[in-house]
Amino acid sequence: MAQNDYYTADEIKQRLSISTLVFNGYRPFSEESLGELVRNNITRIELVESPDQYDLSDIRSMRLVDATCRKSGVEVAAYHAYMTVFRDVDSESKRQERVDICRRQIDTLLELGGTFWCCHALAEEVATESYQELARHIEGTAAVIAIENFNRAGVQVADRVKYLDELDLPDVGMILDVAHEMKADGTNPMTVAGEAGAMINLCGRHLRHIHLQGYKDDTGHHPPLIEGDEIQWREIFATLAAIDYPGEFTFEPRGMLANLETLDYIGRAPERLAALG
Ligand SMILES: [Zn+2]
Repeated sequence: MAQNDYYTADEIKQRLSISTLVFNGYRPFSEESLGELVRNNITRIELVESPDQYDLSDIRSMRLVDATCRKSGVEVAAYHAYMTVFRDVDSESKRQERVDICRRQIDTLLELGGTFWCCHALAEEVATESYQELARHIEGTAAVIAIENFNRAGVQVADRVKYLDELDLPDVGMILDVAHEMKADGTNPMTVAGEAGAMINLCGRHLRHIHLQGYKDDTGHHPPLIEGDEIQWREIFATLAAIDYPGEFTFEPRGMLANLETLDYIGRAPERLAALG
């Protein structure tokens, strides 16, 4: 294939990261658990918000995380600030306080060398004003704010695209989670030939980040290419290459002890996915 039609294993590996969701319930965030990633050729992470272990908005806390990552040879690519939402905000002072937490999270992310601040953007009316303020805050920095899709009315892919069209902020875009979109008949379009690519094209210029995972028996958060995985991997990567997708390839498998081979699957994913092209 000609250049840009598909990715080489190296190109996938350079942009590969894993969500620390894989540790959730099984490993504390530590040098030892990061070492397990490195032994499986995984050296970049999306750090999931975990207030019992560290505070994304507190630089003293995040410098400890940074030191642990550096010792292990791991880089932070993204934060997943899924708990920092605007749902419970009922006054302007509370809203400003919440925006301030977001700003501090983005600042520590940048100090750790990361780029993508991933969030869920609940309560859109309050969120809109807040994202406008955050967009001003990240102007001139490398930071990107990315909003995830969910399989609920108002926050599906088409809704997110419409919202981002209206918001029209250059560094506020979306995360496409390949396991979060269902059609009325319950089918995940990312498992259907022709529809997976169409979904990525629908996101178009708004697509800044992606959550990748295997999908089978109506559930996601599996490693990629496990037996029975229904995701249209070749079509997804071909379409990402075609639109010159600028973001990460972030894998989001759940709990490593649920499947001891999880990290092996992620580590071998670049070669296996490149071979599909
Ligand atoms: Zn996700």
